[in-house]
Amino acid sequence: MKALCWNGVNDLRVERVPDPSILNPQDAIVRVIMSSVCGSDLHLLDGYVPSMKAGDIIGHEFIGEVVEVGAGVKKLKKGDRVVVGSIIGCGGCEFCQTDQWSLCDNSNPNPEITEKAYGYPTAGIFGYSHAFGGYAGSHAELVRVPFAETGSFKLPEGLPDESLVFVSDAFPTGFMAADMCGIAPGDTVAVWGAGGVGQMAIQSAYLLGAGRVIAIDRFKDRLEKAKTHGKAEVLNYEEVDVLEALKEMTGGRGPDRCIDAVGMEAHTTGIEQYYDKAKQTLRMQTGRPAVLRQAIMACRKGGTVSIVGVYGGLLDKFPMGAAMNKALTFRMGQMFAQKYIPQLLEVVAEGRVDPSYLLTHKWTLDQGPEGYKMFKEKTDNCMRVVFTP
Ligand code: NAD
Ligand code: ZN
Repeated sequence: MKALCWNGVNDLRVERVPDPSILNPQDAIVRVIMSSVCGSDLHLLDGYVPSMKAGDIIGHEFIGEVVEVGAGVKKLKKGDRVVVGSIIGCGGCEFCQTDQWSLCDNSNPNPEITEKAYGYPTAGIFGYSHAFGGYAGSHAELVRVPFAETGSFKLPEGLPDESLVFVSDAFPTGFMAADMCGIAPGDTVAVWGAGGVGQMAIQSAYLLGAGRVIAIDRFKDRLEKAKTHGKAEVLNYEEVDVLEALKEMTGGRGPDRCIDAVGMEAHTTGIEQYYDKAKQTLRMQTGRPAVLRQAIMACRKGGTVSIVGVYGGLLDKFPMGAAMNKALTFRMGQMFAQKYIPQLLEVVAEGRVDPSYLLTHKWTLDQGPEGYKMFKEKTDNCMRVVFTP
């Protein structure tokens, strides 16, 4: 089959690779209908996620059709159209059982890598390096879906693919960001980053009772979408002093809840990457975490900082004094896909949110390298490119 493969920093190639096959009784093979780029893939392209190997298939946000199921899969059958969450969870461990799916104990066959880096092994993720299991990703014609019953959800009838594909990752991540805020009715929520994840965080904050949402970014088209589709007030961080502006907009008090939907962003954080020759791997070090610092400094006393933007390594110059003395609450994590996808499919089916406005470009897999270049550079008002194999 055809697949989009990582071959080094900013080096993606369309390659011919062997078709996947059922390896475990709980596997399914899914034929990809639509697979989207995500900001997390940019961390792979930038080389900020160690343990990528040449030839790894990337991609983790997708919908598809089941073409084969393992002997242990009862709830899915050939022909089912499904959305698959990016996070792989066994469903049986203590963490899956308590809906903390990205912490699954059994879905990462290379736990030593995340254990070494994070002190504890974390779950497998499609197309997201060997540190997260080394699973082949979704920018391909076919994907092997492990623990298929826990991570695949049947699509409601009668809705366009464009409205459903982002229920795989961007929407549940944005929703989890808002959910972790513990929003009280009428709260003001500030969202850094108006990409796919930030846009969905804006929508979710209102779903969960926010009175006001303020979106921060530098791209006019993204801020425009935050305003028109998300009903957010917007700040362009290249034009205003974000801290001053947030203070002024909230009567000197600061937003009640602050969401980081940016993470490692070379443009603002001064991340440096280097190749560790001895270990033959790419390593990263992060400089100043601009967004996190602003979120902490802006947040009102007793407020919450919720982080879904991805961080991969060490962070320096973290304003610990402000966090401590303002008694802030911090919540963060890779999203709990299986917890949120079923309820968000309902939200989309009921027409309460239609995430299709995230989609700006629909291309074929052959255009993968070009699509990622555009997504990375945010040219042509690119927000989300989807590939239809
Ligand atoms: P994206 O690249 O489309 O959007 C990121 C946005 O952040 C861009 O519009 C950029 O201009 C903006 N930005 C950069 N610096 C900023 C600053 N200083 N202030 C305000 N905005 C700034 O990416 P995305 O797909 O929306 O993903 C956003 C983040 O969420 C990424 O870090 C991604 O890895 C992460 N993510 C996390 C999960 C999870 O499970 N926790 C899932 C998906 C994505
Ligand atoms: Zn588990």
